[in-house]
Amino acid sequence: MPHKIIEVKNLVKNYGNFQAVKGISFDVNEGEIFGLLGPNGAGKSTTLEIIETLREKTSGEVLVDGMNLDKDANEIKKIIGVQLQSSGYYPGLNLTELITLFNGLYNRTIDSVELLRKVNLEEKAKAKYKELSGGQKQRFSVATTLINQPKIVFLDEPTTGLDPQARRNLWELIKQIQAAGATVIITTHYMDEAEYLCERVAIIDSGEIVALDTPSGLIDNLLATGFERPRQMKQANLEDVFISLTGHELRGE
Ligand code: ADP
Ligand code: MG
Repeated sequence: MPHKIIEVKNLVKNYGNFQAVKGISFDVNEGEIFGLLGPNGAGKSTTLEIIETLREKTSGEVLVDGMNLDKDANEIKKIIGVQLQSSGYYPGLNLTELITLFNGLYNRTIDSVELLRKVNLEEKAKAKYKELSGGQKQRFSVATTLINQPKIVFLDEPTTGLDPQARRNLWELIKQIQAAGATVIITTHYMDEAEYLCERVAIIDSGEIVALDTPSGLIDNLLATGFERPRQMKQANLEDVFISLTGHELRGE
């Protein structure tokens, strides 16, 4: 049996008399990339932020690496890296200065050049955060989640709004984070991304988990119901055309 690094049992979140999360249960295995999929407003960010200790739950139980959220929130904070859906940094500081700031915050001494190289931003070391392109900002924000060398990395829609090159580049970064030994939990609206990255995905709708399996298992289930695509897909799609015409390299912008 794989080691369960996150266990969520009957998690409920009410905002006033609106129930945003309706008693969901799921586990995340150590070392996997786990996807949380679902329409806007489904409760993905709420669920993540509760596990991240940033939001109060209404009821239910959450264990992170065996530690109970109700008792050990401060210990949990030490082993997680969090990228919020919208992260604002001091816009006037350059990337090296921001990393120094985070090092101080986490009591670490991560080498900024090495960290920036990891996310392909070494040439931007002296650039201010506000001067970065969308893709560069996202890569930098993923980099900052790594500063405390976390066991678990939370990424909330890290590729929303990115061009195809920047998106694929971020996919490789996420795979590298996994290869280095971390567990990754990601939310995304891109099903191709979930299929490429995730060992398992939970599909959440109106605060309830409606399916949880490997991408391939979910597809097989659908096919077993007799589902057929309305017409045969071509062997390439418009994104293949775009990438083939404009290349895989990241743009400086
Ligand atoms: P998702 O990330 O899946 O888009 P969220 O977790 O952000 O969904 O939101 C789930 C539901 O909870 C939505 O209907 C949203 O409007 C509501 N919600 C989120 N945060 C708050 C809040 N602070 N106060 C009241 N309602 C909220
Ligand atoms: Mg969200």
